[in-house]
Order: sequence, then C-alpha cells, then structure tokens
Amino acid sequence: MPTTDLYFNPELETASQDEIVAMQNERLKEKVRYVVANNPYMRDLYAKAGVVVEDFRGIEDMDKLPIIAKANFRETYPLGMCCVPKDSIREMHMSSGSTGTPVVMPYTIADLNQWAECMARCLRMSGARPGDPMQIMPSFGLFNGGFGMYHGARAAGLFVIPTGSGNTERQIRLARDFNTRVFGAVISYTGRLIEVMEKMNVELPSLKIGIFGAETVTTAMMQKISARLNIDVFNIYGMTETGGVGTLGMDCRDHSGIHVWEDHYYLEVVDPVTKKVLPDGEVGELVVTSLTREALPVIRFKTGDLTRILSREKCACGRSHVRIDQISGRTDDMLIIKGVNFFPSQVEQALMEIPGVHSEYQIIMEEKDGVNDIHILVEAEEGVTGYTVEKRLKERLGFSPKGEVLPIGSLPRVDGKAVRVVRRKLD
Ligand code: ADP
Ligand code: ZN
Repeated sequence: MPTTDLYFNPELETASQDEIVAMQNERLKEKVRYVVANNPYMRDLYAKAGVVVEDFRGIEDMDKLPIIAKANFRETYPLGMCCVPKDSIREMHMSSGSTGTPVVMPYTIADLNQWAECMARCLRMSGARPGDPMQIMPSFGLFNGGFGMYHGARAAGLFVIPTGSGNTERQIRLARDFNTRVFGAVISYTGRLIEVMEKMNVELPSLKIGIFGAETVTTAMMQKISARLNIDVFNIYGMTETGGVGTLGMDCRDHSGIHVWEDHYYLEVVDPVTKKVLPDGEVGELVVTSLTREALPVIRFKTGDLTRILSREKCACGRSHVRIDQISGRTDDMLIIKGVNFFPSQVEQALMEIPGVHSEYQIIMEEKDGVNDIHILVEAEEGVTGYTVEKRLKERLGFSPKGEVLPIGSLPRVDGKAVRVVRRKLD
C-alpha cells in the first residue's frame, strides 16, 4: 500500500467498487430529478423521450435516458442547460473549439471546489507534494487547462508558478531558477520545450513529474517524452462538458490505465452508431454523467472520445476507481483513405517507431473530385527518408501515403492543441 501522501482524499479514493456503485446509484437518481426540476430544456427533452423521472431507478434504468451531445449545447447557447440562477455562477469556461461548437460551462462555488478536488487527487496521485513548485503551462483563459490546474494545485498545497502558454525560453529559465518539480501542459507542447531546452543547452534535474493532457497521445510518444526529460509522465483527462481538466481523472504511477473519479462521474462505453452500451473491454464512445456538479451536470453526454474499460479491479495504487484506456481518437477524427479507416493516433504510433523521428508531424488530407490523397510531413534527424516513412505506414496501416521528411523546426508550433490533420480541397 503506498503512503497516504499519494492520496488527496484517501477515504473516497480507496473506496471499494461496491461502495462506489452504491454512491453512484444514489447520486444518479438525485441528479436526474435535480436536472429535470431545474432546467426547462432538459425537462422538455425528457418529456419528449417519454422519461418518467419518478420511475427512474438509477443505473439499471440508464438506457432509458436519451443521450445528449455537443449539439444540445449549441442549441441552448449560452446558458440554456444551466440549472442555477445566473447570480450563483462564479466562473465560466468554454471549449477550445476543436470541433467548432461553442460549449459553455458555468461553475458555482461548489463546482469550483469539485474541480479542485478532482484535479488535486490527480496531482497527489502523481507524487506531487505540498510545496512542490508546479509550472502551469496551458493558457489561462476560456480554455479550462490553465485555471483547472491552478484550482487543483492550490487545493493540493503546491507552489503555483502560473506561466501560462508560450514564451518557451522563459518557461525553461523559470523551471531552472525555481527548481520546478512538476510541469503541467498540453501534451504537444512538450516537443517545443525539449527543442528549446536543447537550443539553450539547459537540463532540468529537479523536474520529476509531467502532467500532460488535452490531446490524443500514443504510449510511444509518452515514453519518448519521459525518457528525454527523465520524468514520470501522466495522461490527464477531462473536457469542458465535465467541468475541465482533471475532472475525469488520470493514470496513477502504475500507468495501467486512466483512473476515472467514479464518485463524481458515471461512465458508459457505447457503440458509436447504435448507442448500445458495450461490455467492458470493447472499444466505443465514452458517455459521461456528472454526479456531483451543480450549475450544469451533464446526463449521458456523448463525448466523441473513443476508449474502453480496462479494469474495475483494485489497482496496485490502492484505488478501485475504474480504469479506462487512453483515448485513441475522436469519432469525428476518423480519416478514410482508399476504403481504409484510421485515426491520426495510428499514424503517430507508426511514426514513433522510426528511430530519429521527432514529435512534430502533420497529416495532410487532400481531396480532389471526391478522392482523398494523403501526405505525411514529419520532422526527423538526417538519415530518415521519405521512403522509410512510407514503408512503415504501409506495414502498419495498409496503404502508402507520401512521406516527406523535414528538418527539425520546419512545422508550425502552436501554443494550444497541436494541429495534426490539415484538410485541403483541390479543384
Ligand atoms: P474541444 O472539444 O473544443 O477540444 P475541450 O478543450 O473541452 O474542447 O477538450 C476536450 C477534449 O480534448 C476531449 O473530449 C478529448 O477529445 C480531448 N482530450 C482531453 N484530454 C485528453 C487526453 N488525456 N487524451 C486524449 N484526448 C484528450
Ligand atoms: Zn492505480
């Protein structure tokens, strides 16, 4: 059993599955009634779907509730799904817009505390200790990354260095000068950090923990980052609709899947087409229900994220909160070439297997007269050729994209989420 330093809320984090499920069931019943009582849009939606809330018995009746999606947020923009009066709102965040739909999430004081608790659990689980300097490198603004890490780091007693995004040389100087022990960032930003560290010829021996998230990432990429920076790397998961970064959870030091805080969220993995709940182990779309949020609890929100339940057994870390696989892609990310369906993460997986290939790459999808063509641009050291890239992708994905190897630093760097797929229409 690890020391209690690795928990923020030992009692709830180490609760058994039986205790968790009982808690979920009670909270579900209460939350469904709460949403219907406090939000006319949801009341109407449920009435149209024939849901009789008084009869809802919890988990066993879950499939009787309609699934909601980003479209419901769009339809009710800005606050049409909110369950509290506007003067109870203390903060808001908005999605980064990867899919172009504005999703607004309002927070009451209780919601801010819930967010801080989930995020603080993640921080302690990583081994971050009170007093540890943590540099928070996602932007502070409508994107939830910066503020979410901030609320959590404060709750966990860390020394917050709120650098926000960009200005990489300054990030590295501060990390060196303040002996930063924990980095929090959007995963793809680590590539930029490593490059600039090399240019400045700086190493960061005090750095031990990387809390990275917001994007799909392969194990190979995580291992690369971990080896280069000589740190333990964690994959943190959350989204605007559930209340931001860290609300859903993170992997523990055992790295055997992402623990989801099940006392706060109820998960289902469904077939993306039929919406039927899939058995544990099968890959599908994650559907999330917020059990403890106040301003805007989502009930059966279809995330678009693809994953599977890995285990509900007690983990080596002492937690039995469900473990899910890292997100392999989004349902709307799927690419099709010559009848082969694939996700950008599969391209990343194949690229990371090639020695000398760096972390920056782009998938260029060109469409001409309804036919798609694909090019892969990738930064790599001298000696890696386009042919090597083409051959590896052919082996792994079953088709041959054109591969082009570029010198390090050629592709554009962005402060937020990386743009991995570029679509062009040619006439
Ligand atoms: P947007 O949908 O506009 O990107 P958010 O900023 O709320 O809005 O991002 C949430 C989404 O980011 C998730 O639904 C998921 O697709 C992705 N995401 C967040 N964390 C991770 C992670 N650890 N691994 C993979 N994808 C992630
Ligand atoms: Zn664990």
